[in-house]
Amino acid sequence: MGLISQFLNISLKGTCQSCGAGGPNLWACLQSDCPYVGCGESHSDHSTLHAQVK
Ligand SMILES: [Zn+2]
Ligand SMILES: [Zn+2]
Repeated sequence: MGLISQFLNISLKGTCQSCGAGGPNLWACLQSDCPYVGCGESHSDHSTLHAQVK
């Protein structure tokens, strides 16, 4: 699929870097140089960003 990401357990503190939301639907981008954490709604936008770079 080309999308490298992993959903986080909410026990890991974190907030969406796009909208600041916390919650059980956060995910972490696993691209080697990308520390991005986002919520479900930001997922498609962020994957598009990587698709454009690559
Ligand atoms: Zn968000
Ligand atoms: Zn990323």
